[in-house]
Amino acid sequence: MTAAATDFDAVVTRLRAAGCVFAEEEAELLIEAAPDARALDGLIARRCGGEPLEHVVGWAAFCGLRIAVGPGVFVPRRRSEFLMETALALGRDAGVVLDLCCGAAPFATVLADRLPDAAVHAADIDAGQTAYARRNLAPFGGRAHVYEGDLYAALPKALRGTVDLLVVNAPYVPTSAIATMPAEARAHEPLASLDGGPDGLDLHRRIAAGAPEWLAPGGHVLIETSDAQAETTLAAFQGAGLKASIVEDDDVEATVVIGTEP
Ligand code: GLN
Repeated sequence: MTAAATDFDAVVTRLRAAGCVFAEEEAELLIEAAPDARALDGLIARRCGGEPLEHVVGWAAFCGLRIAVGPGVFVPRRRSEFLMETALALGRDAGVVLDLCCGAAPFATVLADRLPDAAVHAADIDAGQTAYARRNLAPFGGRAHVYEGDLYAALPKALRGTVDLLVVNAPYVPTSAIATMPAEARAHEPLASLDGGPDGLDLHRRIAAGAPEWLAPGGHVLIETSDAQAETTLAAFQGAGLKASIVEDDDVEATVVIGTEP
């Protein structure tokens, strides 16, 4: 057995003992992320202490890209890839796109990658997370913009009426359900990225109310919600005067409300 193989097995053993189900896969990613043995030891200790793997290795896989994340950042979920696929099918010709409640800006980064001519805007209230958004969007230079602030208040006024595609993963967990979330989320992701108020949809109502002012004629807003909350999210977008519908992918338990500015 080679020395490298022994190391790999030792890493797997430590991860498995700490309860990591996908110990082999995680071992590979941790080894790749560590510049040397000492650093690897530190990464394994963090992971065994319960930090999300993505925070430890510094990136999350999303739509085939590596999105930079770290401590204090909401980790992009695989289920949110469904929103991206839906947005790309609707907005092939989008010239202006906006990722609101962007976190590390996985949506904006994928759209910048797939729509080479689009101007890409992303905003979040949390400076810790916009720092990651800036990192992820840096490769796209002057056509990508990151703002900090409370929903639409973060945006330059010149964007009003110009957004072809507005994509949102706002916090939508009801406050009372936070306690039932996995420890990795509860203990390591910002509460403000998860907690959507009493019924989880405080932000959805505010985003719906503001959307018509910022969307271009015929522009679309896509917002992630849950199956149980979809009708309430839908009603908020209809109440704002948008033509709205629900789309779902049962395989990945993804639910998205699409609103269109008439
Ligand atoms: N239920 C979602 C998740 O943890 C909540 C994400 C969110 O509030 N945006 O995946």
